[in-house]
Amino acid sequence: MKYESVRGMRDILPGEIGYWKQVEEKVREVATCFHYGEIRLPLMEHTEIFSRGIGEETDVVNKEMYTFLDKKNRSLTLRPEATASVVRAYLEHGLHIREPFQKLFYIGPMFRYEKPQKGRSRQFHQYGVEAIGSLDPTLDVDVISFAWTLMDMLGLSGLSLRLNSIGCAEDRRRYKKALSGYFAIHIDEMCTDCQRRYDSNPLRILDCKKSQCQPYIQQAPASIDYLCADCARHFAEVQGYLDELGLNYGIDARLIRGLDYYTRTVFELISKDLGAQDALLGGGRYDGLVELLGGPATPAVGFAGGMERLILVLQEKNGSFGQEKRLDLFLPALGEKGRLLALTLAQGLRSQGISVDLDYRGRSLRKQLGYADQVGVRYLIILGEDEVTSRKGRIKNMDRGQEYEIALTTDAIARIVHGTKHGD
Ligand code: AMP
Repeated sequence: MKYESVRGMRDILPGEIGYWKQVEEKVREVATCFHYGEIRLPLMEHTEIFSRGIGEETDVVNKEMYTFLDKKNRSLTLRPEATASVVRAYLEHGLHIREPFQKLFYIGPMFRYEKPQKGRSRQFHQYGVEAIGSLDPTLDVDVISFAWTLMDMLGLSGLSLRLNSIGCAEDRRRYKKALSGYFAIHIDEMCTDCQRRYDSNPLRILDCKKSQCQPYIQQAPASIDYLCADCARHFAEVQGYLDELGLNYGIDARLIRGLDYYTRTVFELISKDLGAQDALLGGGRYDGLVELLGGPATPAVGFAGGMERLILVLQEKNGSFGQEKRLDLFLPALGEKGRLLALTLAQGLRSQGISVDLDYRGRSLRKQLGYADQVGVRYLIILGEDEVTSRKGRIKNMDRGQEYEIALTTDAIARIVHGTKHGD
């Protein structure tokens, strides 16, 4: 029997890990600069966290969750996103009591039972930030600025930010009413999913991607026309600060995001290199979620970005899997004593932070040299009988082709490898 990974869930092999590590490092670096603390959450939650938090009528909850009963018949779900989990943790550990204002970020896998295609899988990875505890528009801008800074640091350009406001709960009640009135005359021409959404939550009709529904969606009323004075002012302030900081955006009146917890500001960062699944990241305010999950009324704002999509864009731009750090030193060895010397030198050098590899298969010198070439090592020292006896050898800089006489001690080797480590 031939085993394969579960459909839509794939392995990430060492040869393609370069960008993954780069993106994770950059997310952590930007998080430090913006003073966000890392939170690591379980992969599973009680199903209700998501069904209540995200909304029963959303596609994520309605169609895409990996839900099952455990041995005690409790309904558990593999997390389809992390915001609801962050809020659960915020409340469970009393973070809101000690210091209600929290800036948090996470990186990790999410699970959604969607149709796998380019930029969409069933296990995918998100990085995301959640800033909890303030309604101030500067916080919306902080979160958006985090996203732009990350893209800058990764050297990505040609992206665009779509921005909208969907107002407070009261605004949305009025907006939904307007949508119901508008769609009433078109709904018979629209898909069966939209017909169901029309009865349960007409706002969700705007998520529909089917071409038969698009003409009606494009002409639908815009949420910003239904904002109360407070929400309109908030949205104007967000735009004002974005303008001040020179952060680009365009208003997208149809953007409402696919999860029910959003309020006021919503946004998506789009890449034209991604085709149909063009959203690199998406987020917004969720001022009602903390209360919905049993806490005190606490405003919040955040975003989540897909790692796979970001890496696709990086690959498209740079045409590779990204650079891994090169191996510093390979020690081809001959004979029992040569192998022992290689092993001891490697032990000492590795504990000084130098990456070293050697042959573990008793292969010929020719094969060992071929392997060193193939992995693209920076330095090489051949350890044969003479080297074992004299404790002297020749270190070869593989980029320049130069060789130097060297004492075979870890300190002497480390000096050479470290000396050029950052320079070449
Ligand atoms: P969402 O949580 O739906 O707002 O999604 C936020 C971001 O996660 C999207 O902009 C995508 O970059 C990424 N994403 C969402 N669903 C998937 C998926 N099934 N496969 C890959 N990436 C995804």
